[in-house]
Amino acid sequence: MDPDIGELETGDVLIEDGRIVAVEPNLHADAEVLDCSGRIVMPGFVNSHHHMFQTALRSYWSDALEIDYFLQSRAGDQALFHKYTPEDVYWGEFGGALENLAAGTTTVVDTSQCSYTPEHTDAALDGIRRSGIRCMFSFSPVFGEFEPDPSYAHPEDIRRLVEHGSGPLVGLALGYHVDDDLFRLSRDLELPVFAHVNDVHMGRFLEDFEPEGLLGPWLTYIHCLGLDESTWDLIGRTGAKVSVSCIAEQTLGMGRLALQPALDHEVPVGFGTDAVSIHTVDFFSQMRAAYTLQRGGMANHAQGGGAEVRPVSTRDVLRMATLGGAQAAHLDHLVGSLTPGKRGDVIVLNAQALNAGPVNHAPGAVLQMDTSNVETVLVDGRVVKRDGRLVGVDLDAVLDALSRSADGLLRRSGAPSILLTSCRLG
Ligand SMILES: [Zn+2]
Repeated sequence: MDPDIGELETGDVLIEDGRIVAVEPNLHADAEVLDCSGRIVMPGFVNSHHHMFQTALRSYWSDALEIDYFLQSRAGDQALFHKYTPEDVYWGEFGGALENLAAGTTTVVDTSQCSYTPEHTDAALDGIRRSGIRCMFSFSPVFGEFEPDPSYAHPEDIRRLVEHGSGPLVGLALGYHVDDDLFRLSRDLELPVFAHVNDVHMGRFLEDFEPEGLLGPWLTYIHCLGLDESTWDLIGRTGAKVSVSCIAEQTLGMGRLALQPALDHEVPVGFGTDAVSIHTVDFFSQMRAAYTLQRGGMANHAQGGGAEVRPVSTRDVLRMATLGGAQAAHLDHLVGSLTPGKRGDVIVLNAQALNAGPVNHAPGAVLQMDTSNVETVLVDGRVVKRDGRLVGVDLDAVLDALSRSADGLLRRSGAPSILLTSCRLG
């Protein structure tokens, strides 16, 4: 993923003190050696949009459409998110981060949306830090009037987090919607913003903010489905980034994929997985979805439906899954490619498997893989997964805690179960 280095058929990656210092064929160094013969060594995936606190709600909204998800998660005092305790947040974030790591994702942008009290926020950060993942924590207001602690000044509590520091692998940002006060606060604190721009109307709101100087390269827009051409011009002009969640967006029926307009306007684009309550964090699936949706759009257009799209290559989507995601996470100076000077976030994929060998085309081989090929994972030079297993993690204890969390959340919310709009589809 580093254009100056290219793709080495055989090579070594030397990491010192968590930093990549060389990527060359046949390096010799006094170092611990991880033998990666028959493997593909590449930068870890960067998940540029995720709500990890939802891990205990896995697949709850598998068949939901956008309105079901919105109503059952956030609308009304019985909604599921409003039933979260700090402990639920902790296990969701910890379990979600482990799941990302095991799947080869070394960096995640986490939009908590569950900061009901300072304890909720601290629990989220504790879970993230314990996992060892690299994270951009997008501190986000909860929806509406549901902060149980009336003294809790949200989003001003970000100042406390900035003051206390978030740990060596965790960066701070603001989220999660298009809001001029939030955008002003981000300028005040010089933090990036990750803002959901779900549809054309939110895009039009954005256009009002440009004259105030609130838009710039520190912004990442999430989803960006069906935006006006003028909004895309604005996104390109102001140097912003875009994160698309191909599978979650299409599962919820949100609209037309933003890949082509992002490419047309030369906007850096990365992938996100949104929430496991909807669909998987598996980045191999994300890449395949982006690839096939984009190419499927060509035939659709040729047959008289939909806008014109151009084919993407397997290398294009692999770049979006790594360097593009790092750009969208505002971390491309640290991660996203195996470049000397960047941090040692590296994954080792087993290519001597029935779904991968023989390797005639490396990006194509990766796109045929799945998470079972993710053998070794390093974050900041530290091995967090080795020989196919997370290091030092009691998985049964994590799964038990998540099950207890799910039971409590469903009991306290009354388990909203009527999929209002999906019913119409039979
Ligand atoms: Zn989201």
